[in-house]
Amino acid sequence: KNLKKHFPIKGGIFGKQVGSVKAVDGVSFYIKDGETLGMVGESGCGKSTTGRLILRLIEPTEGEVIFEGKNILTFNKKQMREMRRKMQIIFQDPYASLNPRMTVGNIIGEAIEIHKLAKTKQEKEERVQQLLEQVGLTRAHANRYPHEFSGGQRQRIGIARALAVNPKLIICDEPVSALDVSIQAQVINLMQDLQQKLGLTYLFIAHDLSVVKHISDRVAVMYLGKIVELAETNELYDNPKHPYTQALLSAIPIPDPTIKRERILLEGDVPSPINPPGGCRFHTRCPYAKDICKEEEPVFKDKGNQHFVACHLV
Ligand code: SF4
Ligand code: MG
Repeated sequence: KNLKKHFPIKGGIFGKQVGSVKAVDGVSFYIKDGETLGMVGESGCGKSTTGRLILRLIEPTEGEVIFEGKNILTFNKKQMREMRRKMQIIFQDPYASLNPRMTVGNIIGEAIEIHKLAKTKQEKEERVQQLLEQVGLTRAHANRYPHEFSGGQRQRIGIARALAVNPKLIICDEPVSALDVSIQAQVINLMQDLQQKLGLTYLFIAHDLSVVKHISDRVAVMYLGKIVELAETNELYDNPKHPYTQALLSAIPIPDPTIKRERILLEGDVPSPINPPGGCRFHTRCPYAKDICKEEEPVFKDKGNQHFVACHLV
């Protein structure tokens, strides 16, 4: 609810704060139990930061994160440790996120140990083996090191580590962006199977609109630290209402050559999140911008059937 993260910029010889990067600037949304909410937008729009704010890997500047009815931003360290078990994250780069000096078995086992989820060493090892099999690897892989695996396999290890603590919500931060296209589909299918079997809830962050369409129940579109549109997946892709969403979607190739779609090219670059444009943040690039767009910020509103849009013209 109204989640914000402003990173301070320090300057001068005294290191005084001279401004702030408004990475996330007031986003509100919900994720339903068992669903996948996709989150898209160009790099730097604040989607990864939003994911980290939910987990409190970064402390929000303002707002609330309500999980199972409680605002977890009020939690102390002990309460947070318990909460961490319920929320996990999978990173984009499976190479950087796995300790190269630990065996795969120890990487996964460490999570089980930290949260005291096994009573004996044997119980822990059995759980590690079960997790490896659950993500399509084998028991024998437990004794190997991350560098011995391919990118897709490493992401499977990352998923097994996240699953080790029986989470409810997994923040997936571009989990397949670093993988070959053929491998992407395998990892996505695995994630969907696991979701069904284990009743997982996903926040799926990505810049690839086709991948997001495939996996998500609903999709949120971010621009410069704000959500500009959010709707059920088919509704958003068939009936995009925000000019920014329309432009993003116009760039996806259509497999059917008889359908013609005009590619909407946006002019200019994404403005800096240090001094974002006033009014509607998209007005400097929007083909439909009117005077009001420069002055008044459009409210993010339900335009019917939970199709939320922030635009004066809609
Ligand atoms: Fe474009 Fe105005 Fe809508 Fe912003 S509010 S997206 S500038 S029409
Ligand atoms: Mg990112």
